[in-house]
Amino acid sequence: MTNVIAPQPGIMEIALYEGGAAKIAGRTDAIKLSSNENPFGPSDKAREAVIRAAHSLHRYPNTDHAGLRQAIGEVHGLDPDRIICGVGSDEIIHFLCQAYAGPGTEVLFTEHGFLMYRISAHAAGATPVEVRERDRVTDIDALIAGATKRTRLIFVANPNNPTGTMVGLADLERLARAVPQAILVVDAAYAEYVDDYDGGAELATRLPNVVMTRTFSKIYGLGGLRVGWGYGPREIIDVLNRIRGPFNLSVAALDGAEAAMRDREHINRCRTENARMRAWLAEALAEKGVPSDTSCANFILARFANPETADACDEALKSEGVLVRRVPGYGLPNCLRITVGDEASCRRVAHVIGKFMADRA
Ligand code: PMP
Repeated sequence: MTNVIAPQPGIMEIALYEGGAAKIAGRTDAIKLSSNENPFGPSDKAREAVIRAAHSLHRYPNTDHAGLRQAIGEVHGLDPDRIICGVGSDEIIHFLCQAYAGPGTEVLFTEHGFLMYRISAHAAGATPVEVRERDRVTDIDALIAGATKRTRLIFVANPNNPTGTMVGLADLERLARAVPQAILVVDAAYAEYVDDYDGGAELATRLPNVVMTRTFSKIYGLGGLRVGWGYGPREIIDVLNRIRGPFNLSVAALDGAEAAMRDREHINRCRTENARMRAWLAEALAEKGVPSDTSCANFILARFANPETADACDEALKSEGVLVRRVPGYGLPNCLRITVGDEASCRRVAHVIGKFMADRA
């Protein structure tokens, strides 16, 4: 008989992550609008830096990420000593749970919040606690009411994935102040898509219990390189650095991300184009009878009458080579999350959904 060694409590509660790398087999014209990737990819300067890094592959990377932290600090006006870099912001989320949560503690996040919060909380042996939202918007009062003396971490994605909605910085400050026993993590993966928004950086500079997380996977177009970062109080960053593997980021990841951070022109172009096509797509879908909340990110959460219609539309899209994201795992079974692609992709997805809706009418 095989000796099955049981994992730590909580691990088997984790549902396997699905969908990120999904593909439509056998179609050369397929378009992928399912992972909130930048349709324009990274800056050419980032690509060149990654290629140049090939000459240093026999060397271990820097352990302190000094060059990358310096570039982030200069661009965002932040102290590089208060920045930590990770293998995607996923790894920063993981570090936070490993360092601050554990058996007997609670990790709070919102009803339609990003799946990694639950996974990392379970992996740390903590109890994940889901708090309801109000009409697909983070409800600060519900989070405050949901906190207990065991709450150690509160994750708020702002803008949120997959709803695309966000709350104001004053509300986030109110939450951080109301729950001083916990760290409020402002997950700002989509912050660059919002005009005049610092992602919570100023709050994380001023308050002792706020950490901001950011990523190179979205507007920087570097999901494949796996780089994210966190910024917060010196004491918290010091704690996270103690559990970080010394060589967590590769030479290519460090050089590519640094070049990407410094190319502001590319980022500004992508932001403008995203805003233009996001407005176009939301309106085109609304005209076809498919509403969505105003999105602050690079995707739209399209709402259908019921889960069956959302499923059928997903199938219709797939059969036309368009891959979007079903989100029942986020408690939104009647919705499809559609990444804002380039103009041709937006026109194609709108056309297929329009035809689907017309056929059903
Ligand atoms: N936070 C949110 C809200 C996200 O949507 C994502 C990516 N789907 C991440 C964090 C993680 O991104 P990454 O690990 O690629 O930095």
